[in-house]
Amino acid sequence: MLKIIDKIIKEHVFEDLESTNKDSLFKTLSEKIAVISSPSADAIFDAFKKREKEYTTNIGNGVAVPHGRIQGYGKTDIFVGFLKEEINYDSDSDDQTPVKLVFAILSDLENPQDYLLNLSQIFFLVNQKEILDKVMETKNFEELQKVLDAFKKLDEKFEAEKQIKFLIELERADIQIKAYELYSSTHAQQKSDLVLEEYKKYKDTILSKIDISVLENYKRIKESKGEALAKIDNYKCSACNVAIPKMTVNEVRRQNQIIMCFHCGRILFTTD
Ligand SMILES: [Zn+2]
Repeated sequence: MLKIIDKIIKEHVFEDLESTNKDSLFKTLSEKIAVISSPSADAIFDAFKKREKEYTTNIGNGVAVPHGRIQGYGKTDIFVGFLKEEINYDSDSDDQTPVKLVFAILSDLENPQDYLLNLSQIFFLVNQKEILDKVMETKNFEELQKVLDAFKKLDEKFEAEKQIKFLIELERADIQIKAYELYSSTHAQQKSDLVLEEYKKYKDTILSKIDISVLENYKRIKESKGEALAKIDNYKCSACNVAIPKMTVNEVRRQNQIIMCFHCGRILFTTD
């Protein structure tokens, strides 16, 4: 279950945030949070900045997840900010994806687990493209709540469709983790350890979503074949190149069940 959905309450949602860059966004956000929360705006701003220095919290698709931990905060809160105009969030990096929406997290310095759990659930939410598309169309709490409530209902239902998406997402998380591990091992200051932890927690969240029998099956195939998923490209299995009958392709598209390539045994998926 995505606990974060229940944490998004009206008082924590800020509409029409005016800012021109990351710093002014953090400043506006910190001031708004300070009105309804105990830390000062400066303390909140500093916490956001400190985490941001490790690595950008721009996670793409117009979404940023600034987060910080404050001594004595005592809980984990999620705040949502709708920006009036999209901003260039990372003017100093290669990633120039503009940001239009922020999910900000504040938590206690002494409770990193809780903050990682919340963060990974946000990652999870915004990585479901069809949900994100709808979320990005919302402009206020009421609209956002409608989308998230619908997602919550969907989230509770088992569907082969979602299971395959989770498997694809699991592979993506694994790639990220490997990349950061490589980075850590070749960089003395190990700046990316925190980000690595975040990705690992995210992977745990995905794993908790995958049906146990689906996961077992996935692991078994991966162990014997290296790759467990195969995309259908032009009516062929992209892994073993065997032609897939049209009827089977349609079944895979319908996503009512998980279907494996009759030749190589990998789990088939389509992106169209
Ligand atoms: Zn195959």
